[in-house]
Amino acid sequence: MSSALARRLAAALGRAHVIADPAELRVYACDGITHGRTTPALVALPGSTEEVVEVVNAAREAGVPLVPRGAGTGLSGGARPSPGSIVVSLARMRRILELDLENGWARVEPGVINLDVSRAVAGAGWYYAPDPSSQGVCSIGGNVAENSGGAHCLKYGFTTNHVLAARVVLSDGSVVDLGGPAADAPGYDLLAAMVGSEGLLGIATEATLRLLRKPEVTRTFFATFPSTDEAGAAVSGIIAAGILPAAIEMMDRLAIVAAKAATGLDWPDVGAALLMDADGPRAEVEHVSARAIELARAAGALEIRVPRDEAERQLMWKGRKSAFAAVGRISPNYLVEDGVIPRSEIARVLREIERMAGEAGLRVANVFHAGDGNLHPLVLYDARNPGEEERAAALGGEILRLCIRSGGSITGEHGVGAEKAAYMAEQFAPEDLETMQRVRCAFDGAALMNPGKVFPTPRLCGERPGPYRPHPAEVAGLAERW
Ligand SMILES: Cc1cc2nc3c(=O)[nH]c(=O)nc-3n(C[C@H](O)[C@H](O)[C@H](O)COP(=O)(O)OP(=O)(O)OC[C@H]3O[C@@H](n4cnc5c(N)ncnc54)[C@H](O)[C@@H]3O)c2cc1C
Repeated sequence: MSSALARRLAAALGRAHVIADPAELRVYACDGITHGRTTPALVALPGSTEEVVEVVNAAREAGVPLVPRGAGTGLSGGARPSPGSIVVSLARMRRILELDLENGWARVEPGVINLDVSRAVAGAGWYYAPDPSSQGVCSIGGNVAENSGGAHCLKYGFTTNHVLAARVVLSDGSVVDLGGPAADAPGYDLLAAMVGSEGLLGIATEATLRLLRKPEVTRTFFATFPSTDEAGAAVSGIIAAGILPAAIEMMDRLAIVAAKAATGLDWPDVGAALLMDADGPRAEVEHVSARAIELARAAGALEIRVPRDEAERQLMWKGRKSAFAAVGRISPNYLVEDGVIPRSEIARVLREIERMAGEAGLRVANVFHAGDGNLHPLVLYDARNPGEEERAAALGGEILRLCIRSGGSITGEHGVGAEKAAYMAEQFAPEDLETMQRVRCAFDGAALMNPGKVFPTPRLCGERPGPYRPHPAEVAGLAERW
């Protein structure tokens, strides 16, 4: 990295907001996935849209790629630096800029923490619905880039259903406003392309978020089952009966053991458990909740627990939300997978995962958003045992392939990032990937933004950072650069 570029950034942002010290740079070498660490050349911490533009212009003119970064909690290596890149951390941009409760929206900077949006409006009876389990630490910019989900997205929809507008800095240094607080702007829905684009289209510097009124009541129950077969049948039965739970989450035996070890909850040792929320107007919720409990019993529930008060309800949810981290209590290392399958396939796919894990000599814990078939198999291993990490990675890959074969997808909410790029070609035909590349090139013709992510191999439009080298297809006159 040229010191001239570091000086230019320091002049634009202030010296304190450009990191070049090798020891400090290591903090930014990974996201929530800690392997594949790559130390960036520089980290820039802009404090405004104008400063983001300065960083983008300086990087483009120097031919250096950019990696946007929120809170670094991503689970697909999306904010992992590419070699020689500048990480653009949006952590300083954490102001709530405007609240319009009359029309139900908040305009925020990208570094605002998800839960802080709800906290800011809770007193007035409003909240921000998308609730990733990491909501106490992850940023709105990262949520927008990943189209993040959460337990309550079954009923309320993913991030994409709650972002009304975004201000984005493109790689040519222009600032564009996509969408708007009023519904149904005419023209192509470019905001929809931006949400879930994993930092490849531009850097979001503002987002306007839809807020919801808090429901009148929420009723929760926890149900245990002999195995995931009965729990899966209960989920299907509840939804087939026309009930749309606010959330319905499943944990298998290992995940329950881990959650108990971490939280001290007095959950029984059973094959599977469901945690369900119903919310809305009181009369409707009481009816729906009672009916769902009946259906869980009919599917073979061993025990149903209804929390006595809000504190007990929060404790039950704490058990579920801490389950990922809790797995560290029962295994020195684990991989977090994220795949989607049709809801009706849950029981069969979980059995198949158990069989595959047995063959690989490994254990898999499952804790997931059962209502929308979004699995999170956690592949447990001990990196101290030679070859075990590789076996775990191979099993994780086979689980993703099983999701594709079952009519699902290689990611439900954690994104493709660096980790799953190799599987994109297994889910999509070359023509599909080419079309996605064209969309990307329409936003980022310079291929400056987050190179090496999402797409399986270096392709056209200068994907490789550094000097432009023509692709063999261009040389042969078969393709052109966009
Ligand atoms: C314990 C734990 C539980 C989790 N639970 C969930 C869950 O329930 N649901 C879920 O969906 N995810 C979950 N996650 C994953 C993660 O928290 C989400 O993907 C989150 O949205 C990432 O936000 P972040 O601010 O940490 O982004 P980062 O990890 O910093 O970045 C994520 C991606 O967004 C891009 N990016 C960040 N900011 C911007 C911006 N301003 N403009 C453009 N691109 C940007 C980055 O380049 C990267 O590709 C969990 C993670 C952990 C560690």
